[in-house]
Amino acid sequence: MPLIVLGSCNKKKLKEMVALLGDLGLDLTDLTPYPDAPEVAETADTFLGNATLKATQLAPALNAWVIGEDSGLCVPALGGAPGVLSARFAGTQGDDQANNDKLLTEMAKLTGDQRAAYYVSTAVLADPTGKAIAQVEGRCHGLIVSERRGTGGFGYDPLFLVPEYGKTFGELPPEVKQQMSHRAKAFEQLRPIIERAVLGRAGT
Ligand code: IMP
Repeated sequence: MPLIVLGSCNKKKLKEMVALLGDLGLDLTDLTPYPDAPEVAETADTFLGNATLKATQLAPALNAWVIGEDSGLCVPALGGAPGVLSARFAGTQGDDQANNDKLLTEMAKLTGDQRAAYYVSTAVLADPTGKAIAQVEGRCHGLIVSERRGTGGFGYDPLFLVPEYGKTFGELPPEVKQQMSHRAKAFEQLRPIIERAVLGRAGT
């Protein structure tokens, strides 16, 4: 079975990616089986830049197809913050609680449309030589509520209200997020590319 490595250690993000591509007949893994994989510093100032760094540096090091994914939350009324700094908005990498607290504080005086936000997911597929052969982006629009609701998802999900449902991703079942999230939209675009380039299925 052809192998694709997802260049991430975020288990919850990974679970979503596996759910999105799991039916393709691929061996999908994260970096856990590769303890010697290089640490890729996310030094770019765009999601695409960071996803490209992850994919193109990890693929030749592992001699495998790699998907690098970089994602985050953007609030136009905050000038696009937290943006590429989403995972470390409050200072410590991956501290969701502190990141959510900081977001609530910074948005405390914002009302109505000023509370609009969107998630972005950018994914880059690199071949085993490290050549990026595809880049895709998905977005999901919503509003930031003023206190946490629900415990599902991860990151900013308890604060991210999906207007169509009147509920946050923290409250909605994972199946709903799997259908409409930024990551779902990005990975949907990757599917035909993977089918052609990795699985060698012509005409897909
Ligand atoms: P990355 O692992 O460097 O791509 O950082 C992604 C960060 O963006 C996460 O740590 C979250 O803070 C945020 N983020 C990305 N996608 C989601 C999502 O689906 N729900 C909630 N937060 C997300």
